[in-house]
Amino acid sequence: MFNLILFGPPGAGKGTQAVKIAEKFGWKHISTGDILRAEVSQGTPLGLKVKTVMDAGHLVSDELLIEIMESVFVNNSPVKGFVLDGFPRTLNQARELDRMLLKHGHTVSLVLALEVDEDELVARLLKRAQDQGRKDDTEEVIKNRLVQYHHHTKPLIDYYLDKKLYQEVHGMGTIDDIFSQLCSVIKL
Ligand code: ADP
Repeated sequence: MFNLILFGPPGAGKGTQAVKIAEKFGWKHISTGDILRAEVSQGTPLGLKVKTVMDAGHLVSDELLIEIMESVFVNNSPVKGFVLDGFPRTLNQARELDRMLLKHGHTVSLVLALEVDEDELVARLLKRAQDQGRKDDTEEVIKNRLVQYHHHTKPLIDYYLDKKLYQEVHGMGTIDDIFSQLCSVIKL
């Protein structure tokens, strides 16, 4: 099983590329942002719990995310692989992911990081606010999400560098160019 983590700050293009990679390799795309937004729009108990946190651009608790991912793995096996988009986002989540995968005899195969300038990130997120009307794409909340990224998520770079799993790809350019660069790094 190939377990790919697509890594990068909000607005880096993880979702767009994750869909294309999942389609090309026949893997299952898991976006924790999409899962959480679906819970919110369906008004489930989980959705009600996370809505304010998400709208403010903060991270949902590790405990809830780990619970969600446990059920993702249970409900989606067997598959040829996963493209994880938005998870893990904290060191605690990364350690828990290793534990969950190991339980089934698997490991993280590769972490691909999309490198995008901060100015470009903000511009993309503001544009998405106009196009899709996502509640967490206002300027104030975007700033918050970038702070969360720097504070909680960036430390994962060292975690995966230590494991020799971390690889950066330039995330500026056309969607197709970035996609082919990503594909060229994925060695099955
Ligand atoms: P983006 O990558 O554009 O920041 P996502 O769609 O991945 O946005 O996530 C939206 C929101 O969902 C995050 O700001 C956060 O509140 C919540 N979320 C998603 N994944 C996680 C996670 N692994 N841990 C904590 N919160 C998460």
